[in-house]
Amino acid sequence: LSARYQSELHLPAQSSCGQNFSLMVNSGLAIEIETTQSEFTNGVGLYRTEFPFIMRSRFPTELEQVELYRKVFQGYPGKAVVMRTLDVGGDKPLPYFPISEENPFLGWRGIRLTLDHPEIFLVQIRAMLKANIGYNSLHILLPMISDLAEVDESLRLIRQAWFEVDDEFNSENIVAKPKVGVMIEVPSIMFQLPELARKVDFCSVGTNDLTQYLLAVDRNNPRVGNLYDAMHPAVLRALNQLGQQAHGLQFPISICGELGGEPLGVLTLAAMGFNSFSMNHSNLAKIKWLLRRIDLAELRLLLPDVLACQSPKQVRVLVQRFLDQKQ
Ligand code: PEP
Ligand code: MG
Repeated sequence: LSARYQSELHLPAQSSCGQNFSLMVNSGLAIEIETTQSEFTNGVGLYRTEFPFIMRSRFPTELEQVELYRKVFQGYPGKAVVMRTLDVGGDKPLPYFPISEENPFLGWRGIRLTLDHPEIFLVQIRAMLKANIGYNSLHILLPMISDLAEVDESLRLIRQAWFEVDDEFNSENIVAKPKVGVMIEVPSIMFQLPELARKVDFCSVGTNDLTQYLLAVDRNNPRVGNLYDAMHPAVLRALNQLGQQAHGLQFPISICGELGGEPLGVLTLAAMGFNSFSMNHSNLAKIKWLLRRIDLAELRLLLPDVLACQSPKQVRVLVQRFLDQKQ
């Protein structure tokens, strides 16, 4: 089966009815940047920067970060690379920066931590901007945004970092201004989309955390694991509304959570009108193969029934039936 998927990896991510999809990869969990499939993708949709921080016994220096990030741009020449600012805390503690909290997932994680430590944020942004010189691929993505003030403060610091780097390079006009986006993974920000669309260039839905926070289920707790399901009708209704609203605002939106890398998930999302997905390398060939076989008009007919389901199980049965016809 996998050979069958691989055989179409070099072909365009285009449905049988002619709709083009943007398929990107999630990267950063491995030490080496995985670039074997780079020419068959639209770039890196989510580069998780926390791994090199977690691997070390101290914060990586600006220079160390520049070298690391440059390798990512090198691996995807001419393509967009979405680099997420440090998303530690919660389930991703830094060994040399201990945080003790009763509710880490509701606590000091992601942007909350780095805005409280602008020196960490600024070094990282400067490193990204420097690594991007000569590539012009950088998109900066902000994790765990729950409030518009966090966006304003992040943008202010990104501007400051840009001025600092530009100054260092004597304003030779080579330091590109990056596009900036926000992760949609905390429910509150879903209700502030029009304001968000005026402030930043794009958004990316983190279905892993969004599911966890919508359902109030710890994504890593096996006791409640059976309740954690991104195909929950409530999550799907939220995603559908989000897609529609972003479309109305002409606000570029993509999906970088695991749901977009799962066959049933990507079909459901494509039925809603999403057309940009970032996923783990291992899922790319399969998802491209599948999308090449769908007719969107036919797929869209599924949506009302999917959204009317009362359980994740019902949703899966419906979408699986559609999938079985394609295999
Ligand atoms: C997400 O939350 O869906 C996501 C993509 O980010 P992470 O899994 O790194 O929290
Ligand atoms: Mg997340």
